[in-house]
Amino acid sequence: MSIRNALITIAMTAIAGFAVLNLDFDIHIKSANAESGAGDWSPTQPAPDLDVYYPGTEALQPDEMRIVALGTGMPSPRPKQAAACWLVELGNGDKFFFDIGAGCHERIAAQKIPYDFIDKVFISHLHVDHYGDLPSFWLGGTTMNRLTPLRIWGPSGHAPEYGTKYAMERMQEMYIWDIATRAGVIDFRGGQLEVTEFPYEADNEVIFEENGVVIKSFPAIHAIDGAVSFILEWNDLTFVYGGDTAPNKWYIEYAKGADVAIHESFLDPTLLVTKQGFSPLEALVVGTVAHTSPAQFGKVMSLVKPRLAVGYHFQNDFDTAPVARAEIRKTYDGMLALAEDYMVFNVTKDDIRVRMSAIDEDIFPSAPLKPKIAPDISKVIPMSDFITEGNVPFPEVLQPIYDNLNEIYGTDYKPPGEE
Ligand SMILES: [Zn+2]
Ligand SMILES: [Zn+2]
Repeated sequence: MSIRNALITIAMTAIAGFAVLNLDFDIHIKSANAESGAGDWSPTQPAPDLDVYYPGTEALQPDEMRIVALGTGMPSPRPKQAAACWLVELGNGDKFFFDIGAGCHERIAAQKIPYDFIDKVFISHLHVDHYGDLPSFWLGGTTMNRLTPLRIWGPSGHAPEYGTKYAMERMQEMYIWDIATRAGVIDFRGGQLEVTEFPYEADNEVIFEENGVVIKSFPAIHAIDGAVSFILEWNDLTFVYGGDTAPNKWYIEYAKGADVAIHESFLDPTLLVTKQGFSPLEALVVGTVAHTSPAQFGKVMSLVKPRLAVGYHFQNDFDTAPVARAEIRKTYDGMLALAEDYMVFNVTKDDIRVRMSAIDEDIFPSAPLKPKIAPDISKVIPMSDFITEGNVPFPEVLQPIYDNLNEIYGTDYKPPGEE
C-alpha cells in the first residue's frame, strides 16, 4: 500500500467513526483529500495535510492550552533531545516555562516565540539538566528586547544555600562580566531577576495566581530535599508537570484526573546497564530510587488516570521506546505519549491533539515585537587605553560600509573617530 493510500485509509477509518488503533494517542489524521473526496486528489494539488505543527502559523484559541516539549532527554543533552524544558501557552496570552534545562535554548527559537513575551520560569529543582540554559535565556533575552524582569519561581532547600534564591544571586555574580558589557549599550531592564522562592514542603499550595491562572507546588522525592512538581490550572484545564522524582504520594493524589499529566519515565534499568554502562546496582538505584522507571510510571498513571499521560526524561529512540512502552503497559492502559523534543499538545475540554513541530534549522530567533528603549549611554564602561590603542580601523574598508548603509537608510553616521 502506498503512503498516500495508507493515509486515505486511516483518514476514512477515522471519518467512519472507528477508533484509530495501535496509536498511543489520538493524532487526528486530517486529510485534504478526504474532505474533498479522495478521488479528486492529484499531484498538481496541495499535498494532504499530514497534521504537522508549523510554529508561528496557528492562532491559539481563547479556551485552548498549547504545550510544547522543548527538552525531554537526559542530563547530558544530545542533538535530538535537550534536557528538561516545557513551554505552556494559554489562550489568554500567558506563557510559562517549566524547567529550562541544558540545551533547550535553541528550541525556543525554533518555536518562533519573541523573547519579549516570555518572562516566567518555574524551576522544579536545581539540577543543571533542569535550569542549565537559564543564564543563556536570561542574558540572551536582554539583547532580544525583553524589557521586563525575568521572573523565576523555584523551591527552597533544606538550608538557605540550597535554595533557588541563593542560586540566582550567585548566578548574577557569575555573569558580572557579561552584564557589564551590556551597560549603556542596550536597555537592561530585562536583565533584572525577580525571584520567588517558596518552601519545597508546600503541599499543593498556590505559588502563583494571576490573570486567571493558578500554579501550585507539591514535593517530589529526588536526591535531597528541595525538588518539587507543579500544577497549572486555567480555564477548567489542569496541567501537571512532574520534576524528577521517585513515585510519590503527592503526585498520585494531586495529579488525579488531570487533563495532561507529565511525569518522568526514566531510561529503563536494563537499558541503563546496556546503553549507559551502569552497573546493575547503579541502574537500580538511579533508575528506580532517584528516578521513576517506566514500570513505576505506568503504576503511577494507573492511579492518576489523566486524560493524557506523558512520559519523558529518557532517550526516546526506535529501540528504547518499545522497552518503555512494554513496561508501562504492564499496568497502565490509558492514553499515553512518550515525549520527544518538539512534540506539541493542543488541549481543550473536548480534545487533546498531539503532533510534532516542523522545525526550520535555519531559523533566526524572532525579532522583537515591542519598540526598543534607548539605553542610558552614560553607563557604558569604557575600555582602557591599552586596549583601544590596539585598534586597527581600516578606514578604506570601514568608510564604504558606513556609506552603503547611510545611502540605503538615508542616514549620516560616521565611523568612530570621524564624528
Ligand atoms: Zn534531577
Ligand atoms: Zn533530571
